[in-house]
Amino acid sequence: MIDFDQKLQHLLDQISEYYPRFDWEDQERVRQAFYFGLNAHGDQKRYSGEPYFVHPITATEILLQIQPDIQTIQACLLHDVVEDTEITLQQIEQKFGSRVRFLCEAVEKVSQVRLQNKEREIETLKKLFIGMAEDIRVIFIKLADRIHNLQTLHHIPREKQQRIAQESLHIYAPIADKLNLHVFKNQIEDWCFQYIFPDIYADLSHQMDKLQTKQQKIIDQAIRDVESELTADNIQIEEVQGRTKHLYSVYRKMQKKNFTTLDEVYDLFAIRIITQNQIDCYRALGALHRKWKPINARFKDHIAVPKPNGYQSLHTTLLGLHNEKNPTEIQIRTLQMHLDAEYGPAAHWAYKAAGNDDFSQKYIDQTEWLPSDIKDIQSNENEQEIAFQKMSESIRQGRIIVFTPRGEGRNLPEKATPIDFAYAIHTEVGHSAIGAKVNGHIRPLDSELSTGDVVEIMTKKGRQPNPLWLNFVKSSMAKGQIKTHLNRLKRDSQTDLNPVPHIEQIQKQHKAGTRKSLFAKTFGPKTTSQNIMIGGQSDVPYRLAKCCQPKPGNPIVAYISRGLQFVIHKQDCEALDELENNRFIEAHWLHTIQLKITGKPRLGLNQDISRTLTQFHALETQSQYQQNPDTNLGTWSITIEIPSQKNLPQLTHKLQSISDIKTVEIH
Ligand code: MN
Repeated sequence: MIDFDQKLQHLLDQISEYYPRFDWEDQERVRQAFYFGLNAHGDQKRYSGEPYFVHPITATEILLQIQPDIQTIQACLLHDVVEDTEITLQQIEQKFGSRVRFLCEAVEKVSQVRLQNKEREIETLKKLFIGMAEDIRVIFIKLADRIHNLQTLHHIPREKQQRIAQESLHIYAPIADKLNLHVFKNQIEDWCFQYIFPDIYADLSHQMDKLQTKQQKIIDQAIRDVESELTADNIQIEEVQGRTKHLYSVYRKMQKKNFTTLDEVYDLFAIRIITQNQIDCYRALGALHRKWKPINARFKDHIAVPKPNGYQSLHTTLLGLHNEKNPTEIQIRTLQMHLDAEYGPAAHWAYKAAGNDDFSQKYIDQTEWLPSDIKDIQSNENEQEIAFQKMSESIRQGRIIVFTPRGEGRNLPEKATPIDFAYAIHTEVGHSAIGAKVNGHIRPLDSELSTGDVVEIMTKKGRQPNPLWLNFVKSSMAKGQIKTHLNRLKRDSQTDLNPVPHIEQIQKQHKAGTRKSLFAKTFGPKTTSQNIMIGGQSDVPYRLAKCCQPKPGNPIVAYISRGLQFVIHKQDCEALDELENNRFIEAHWLHTIQLKITGKPRLGLNQDISRTLTQFHALETQSQYQQNPDTNLGTWSITIEIPSQKNLPQLTHKLQSISDIKTVEIH
């Protein structure tokens, strides 16, 4: 027999450890929910044969790790009552209030998704997000519920086991990660790992135990060494902890790096220093670097530049800390940063008065992977499907943070391009983008950005988005904006958006036996450069057609093959007749030009030059600056690539008209 009174007492004891003023009234609220749930489930049993109510109790114990408020605890105890018993939502509301009813209802809706495969995933996410948008605590309960279900998975049929493990790994773990609920994320991943790869899990956990026993002494010593080093410097520390990587992340690391043994993973054990304030984080870092040699490439200041999910800490890796050949990873953070990293939004929630509804919205506002207008999506049926598709995408994608020249960060999907960034700033900036500078250098609009890049978008009024952008943009937001705009253009003006509008005429003329091209004849002298600009982008992979073998200088056109590859044909190639009209894109050979510019250096002159080059679609591939100490004049030697030489005189003229520029020469 299970002693439920004792179970309740255990819960109350745990709550009183973190809950401020856990008075009789609060205790009574928990007690009421407990006995209500216990009576409602009666003698229902789980697969394991245990009384059903053991499940809500254990889920609540798991939930207590993140120190929730009383309403969340009540709702967790009651979360399966409505689905599995005669009790109605109205009864819950009468007894526990509308908030607890809402939480139970939202959790139940997620559990009720009974679809298969892909639809199931989308539907589950939809239910989750709608609940979360209203009250973030829905996900706390759902995660605790899921963790206990994973813990008892061995009792249920194998097929269902796999489905739940897969779903947890693909939906719940990434959500916990994005919400910074790392305690939950790690538990979910390790439980799923166990069911999805039982053999690897057993082997790895066995190896890990052995290694840990062997290393424990060394780690304890390292912690003491760090502590004494910091106290000697009068640094205010809360705690120095040893941390073991969770098994699933060890497994993933070994996979990624092709490791075969655990010994190769140098950061299995790490040391975490929790300080009282931010200045002491940096002071601790200084003290450690003075004593032990850091590995340069491994130092990261996530305090100044937080990770896309808001994570803050200093990371460094030190050599010789525990007299081993292995380097030691160190994390330094304040107590608040630590709570944020481990418990995410819950860390802020714990001491807030219950019923603070603003909190969810405020939290969601900060969570850029969730659309801020999540509530509107609910009301607009048509856009629902797309919106949730996007969210499920973004849940799994890695994120990068890219900055404007003013230091404002934008959160983008991995491998995002300047076009994604432009749309993240403003739709109009996206539509009218003509060039981008990444860390001060002009880069193609399709280049891949990484975290920390400073990106400046150059725009031109009246420009339209290029359909070709759809081939490389990564964010669904940019994709959506481009598509919507192009569709509107098509509808409004009935204009043909084919980037090579004359292709039919070219084909017609081929058929009529004429070989005259409608395009500009040639671009002047032959160039040695093989670079080609396709639809306004350079650096697009392409191959030259075998049929006509285009040479630099030949008028050309790009064709998007079935395999989505760009194939370059001569404009007078007969094969064009056989190809589909709507798959052609404008293409030009790029010409490499050397510019030598002299002028009086001043602030902003570099920008003026770059802006002019961008207006002429010139790509800066190399640039050098020298100053003559006698004349105080500067010389810029710039290598550019441009689609056509015929605009060179205008370009020279435009450059010369910039104030403080003296001479412009072309080589
Ligand atoms: Mn449940």
